[in-house]
Amino acid sequence: MKKLIGIDLGGTTAKFAILTKDGEVQQKWSIPTNVQDEGKNIVPDIIESINHRLDLYGLTSENFLGIGMGSPGSVDINDGTVIGAYNLNWRTLQPVKEQIEAGTNIPFFIDNDANVAALGERWKGAGEGSGNVVFITLGTGVGGGIIAEGNLVHGVGAAGEIGHITVDPEGYACNCGSVGCLETVASATGIVRVARDLSEEYAGDSKLKWLIDDGQEVTAKTVFDQVKDGDPLADMVVERFYSYLGLACSNIANVLNPDSIVIGGGVSAAGETLINGVRKYFDKYAFPPIKSVTKLKLAELGNDAGVIGAASLVKENVE
Ligand code: ZN
Repeated sequence: MKKLIGIDLGGTTAKFAILTKDGEVQQKWSIPTNVQDEGKNIVPDIIESINHRLDLYGLTSENFLGIGMGSPGSVDINDGTVIGAYNLNWRTLQPVKEQIEAGTNIPFFIDNDANVAALGERWKGAGEGSGNVVFITLGTGVGGGIIAEGNLVHGVGAAGEIGHITVDPEGYACNCGSVGCLETVASATGIVRVARDLSEEYAGDSKLKWLIDDGQEVTAKTVFDQVKDGDPLADMVVERFYSYLGLACSNIANVLNPDSIVIGGGVSAAGETLINGVRKYFDKYAFPPIKSVTKLKLAELGNDAGVIGAASLVKENVE
C-alpha cells in the first residue's frame, strides 16, 4: 500500500513524517529552516532531505501516493505557490509545488499551516472525524482552519483568518493594519501585552506585577502559572483573555454551527482550565441552540498536527 509524506514547514524547523494511508506515523525527522538569502535554500533542502531519507529506508517515489505540506504565508493551493511568508523570508512568489515535484517525482499538495493542522486534528485528533470542526491555534500569532460540511473552507483564498476577527474595536493595533484583532490579545504575545498594561494600572499586591516591574521575563505561561497561585492581577489578565476568545468562538459558532471548536498551539498548554474559562464566555455570547451542541476541546496532536494534517492533504486531493 502506498504511503504518504507530510511536511510541516516553520520558521525554525521543517518537520517531516512518513505515514501509512491510515495515518500511522512510521518515521519522523526534522531539519533546520535556512531563511538566509531570502529563503532560497528552503525548498532545495527539503528535496534533498526527502531523497536522502528515501534512500536510507530503501524506498522510491513509487512507494508514495503524494507529499503534503503546510506552509506559513499566503498559499495558492491550485498553483502550489507561496508568497508573503515573512518568517521564512519568502517575500516573492515561490513555486514550491513545481520545484518539489521536479526534485522528488512525487505528486505534491500544499495548504496554509493552520488549515493543515485543522485537517490533522479532524483526522487523528480532537475532531474525531467530524465534518464540522473549527481549529484555532494560539501561538506567537493566532491561526485558524475551518472544516465545514466535510471540506476545508478556503473562500476565494484566505478563509479561516480567525486571528483577525475584531474583538475590541478600541483595542491594540494589529500587524495586519487593523485594530483589536483576536491575535492582539489572545496570542502568547498578546496575553503578555495585556498583562503589562493591566499591571500599570494595578495597585494591589501581585507577584505578576512584581515580576513585570522587576524586568523579569514574563510569558503567557508565567501568567497562567500565577493564576494557579491565586494571583489577582494574573486572574484579571486571564479573564480578559477568556472573554475575548469566548466572544470570537461564539461568533464563529453562530455562523458555522460546528460540532467542535478545537484549541491548540503553545498557549493551549494551560489545559482544561482554559477550556472552562472560554466556555463561560462562549455560553454567555452564543446563540442558545448552538451553545448546547458545540463542544470546546483541547487539541490532541500537539507538534504532530502539522505533519499528520499535511499527509491527509494528499488523501483529500488524490481520493
Ligand atoms: Zn489583524
